[in-house]
Formats: sequence, C-alpha cells, structure tokens
Amino acid sequence: MASIDIQSIRKSFGAFPVLHGVDLTIRDGEFIVLVGPSGCGKSTLLRMIAGLEDVTSGDIRIDGKRVNDLAPKDRDIAMVFQSYALYPHMSVADNMSYSLRLRRSTKEKIASAVGGAAAKLGLEPLLERRPKALSGGQRQRVAMGRAIVRQPKAFLFDEPLSNLDARLREQMRAEIKKLHGDLRATSIYVTHDQIEAMTLADRIVAMHGGIVQQVGSPLELYDRPANLFVAGFIGSPGMNFFEGRYLVSGDHADLRLPNGTTMPVRKRDGVESGSAATLGIRPEHVILADNGALEAKVDLIEPTGFGIIMHVTIHGIPMKIFSQDRRMLKPGPTIRVDLPQDKLHLFESDGKRVD
Ligand code: ATP
Repeated sequence: MASIDIQSIRKSFGAFPVLHGVDLTIRDGEFIVLVGPSGCGKSTLLRMIAGLEDVTSGDIRIDGKRVNDLAPKDRDIAMVFQSYALYPHMSVADNMSYSLRLRRSTKEKIASAVGGAAAKLGLEPLLERRPKALSGGQRQRVAMGRAIVRQPKAFLFDEPLSNLDARLREQMRAEIKKLHGDLRATSIYVTHDQIEAMTLADRIVAMHGGIVQQVGSPLELYDRPANLFVAGFIGSPGMNFFEGRYLVSGDHADLRLPNGTTMPVRKRDGVESGSAATLGIRPEHVILADNGALEAKVDLIEPTGFGIIMHVTIHGIPMKIFSQDRRMLKPGPTIRVDLPQDKLHLFESDGKRVD
C-alpha cells in the first residue's frame, strides 16, 4: 500500500481554472472521501492521481515518488468507476484476471488471486457469466474484484455506487467498509452521498470551487465546520443560518437580526462588536420545549418515518427542525423552541468559524 502526496496541484482546462492549488497528504492505508458540489473538481483531482488527466502545475507523489509524468498503467493504482467499465465480451473471471494476464502472471497466481477476490465478494457462482447477465450490484462487485485482484498501491473510487438502488447502495457501502477493514488499502472515494462520506471516511476532504475547504474526520466536520460552506454542506437536512450583527455589551453578546430582534450568543474573543456574522444551528439540535425562548411558526411537516422534518419560521427566517417526537406530527400553528448555546456555530463575515 502507499501514501499519496498532493502538492500545490492546479488544473485548468484551456483558460478555465478548475483546481486552484490543492494540498493533501493521504496516509498509507487511509480511506479518504472527497465531497463537494457538482463541478468543484473532485473527479478531476481523482483522474489526475490516476494519470488520466495531466497536471497543470504541482506534484503528485505516490510513496514519495513523483508520478506526474508516469502513464496510468505504471502508477499501480486501480480505479473503480460509476459505470463499472467491464469488458462485455469477457466472463466475470476473465474481466477480473485481465490485468494479471497482461502482466503475464502465472496461471496459479491468477487462479489464486481471482479465487480470493471472488470469495471475498461473493462472486464465486458468477465467474463464468458475462456482464450483461449480471445485476447492477453484481457488476459493481466485479468492478471491485477486478481492482482487488491487481493488489494495487491504492484504490480510487469515482461514485461507484450511484447507479444502484438505495438498498443495494446500503449493502455495498457496508461491504466496501468491510473490505477496507480487511485490506487496509489506501483509498480515495468521490461521492455525493452524505451517508457514504460519513460512514466510510477516515477523513473527509470538503471541496468547493476548486479549493479544499476542510480536511478532517467526519465528526470534526460535523461538530466544528471550518466555514459556512462546510457547515451548510455536511449534514442533512442542512444547517440553519441566521445572518445579523454580533454585538457585545459587557460580558454578554448577541446576534442582532435585520428585524431588530436579538439572539443571545456566547461571547467570543477576537470578533469585533458590530461586525456582520452568521449564526448556525443544525435541525436536529433545535430543542422543542413548551416554555422555549423562541416562537416558531409551523409552515410544513414532512414525516420520514425515522423522524419529522418541520419547516418553520423564526423571526421571519425560514428554518428546519428535525424531531423524533411523534406529537410533532400534529403541532399547533406555532411551537416554542430553544437553541442550545453549545450547539450554536458562529461565522464571521468572511465565512470563517469562530470558536
Ligand atoms: P460532479 O460531482 O458533477 O462529478 P466534480 O466535482 O467531479 O463534479 P469535475 O468533473 O472535476 O467536477 O469538473 C470540474 C470542472 O471542470 C467542471 O466545471 C467541468 O465542466 C470541468 N471539466 C471537467 N473535465 C473537463 C474537460 N475535459 N474539458 C473542459 N472542462 C472540463
């Protein structure tokens, strides 16, 4: 397995810049998940590591060795795509053994590698089938089997589960996690799926506009998002925000909303009184309480079975609350809520978090 070092990577397509200097060190055996909105450059970064895309400037090192000019086949990296990219005219076994046959491995080695991967992935009964005779989930397993057989230095996954239905995704997600536990292979995984990112990652890399916004464990990003972008991106439903001015009087601080109401906040060092600021709270952290400090007008109720998403308005600002209290299926026209201080996030006008 291998460490991967990404140093000051920039990428432009013609005059169009896509990545603006990405630095990232991926440890040997680590599972990294890249997340970010469509077009932020996740796939481009992955493809540059694989060697499928040129680097405009900066260096990529695998196990300390610069690979910028190395052909994809010489990087010893396996990529698993959303589209599976299986050879339709080959059996499952032949698809899986293809790279070893290219390398002229011995028959015994090939049989043992394919057998081992097939056993791990439950593919043994399917080895003689062609891809078209497989379900989507089975094809995805073959694509992973093909990657495992190569025993590459690292695995790159580009939204590998996004063509599968919800149940199968769940199942495959757990399988990928288990496989990583077994193989401890350095892995970089691109996804749009929050749950995949949270459950699979050792560290999540949140990207936006070709810039890395935060790198950290899933809980670090959830508990202490570094900026407004990460705060709004991680978590579902997304964090609620109140924009206003941060005002200090003595030992106390408030956020004054545009309509003149104030919300008490913990006083922070280093934020100037009177400066623009945004307060954030996650829907699941709002407390429903008969004697709560704030009144919320209930606009819409979305029961999910697991809980209830309530669309409410507080001080004229729309926000969401998540609750597992079934009485909330039929709330009155208004409810009362508290926003606990220890769950409030404060961001300065440039979007940076303040602790
Ligand atoms: P998604 O989540 O939608 O897959 P992404 O974050 O993976 O998005 P990329 O596929 O890396 O984004 O694309 C980043 C930007 O680069 C996009 O604006 C895209 O249109 C552009 N782009 C990607 N490939 C090329 C190319 N070959 N030529 C020109 N522009 C490209």
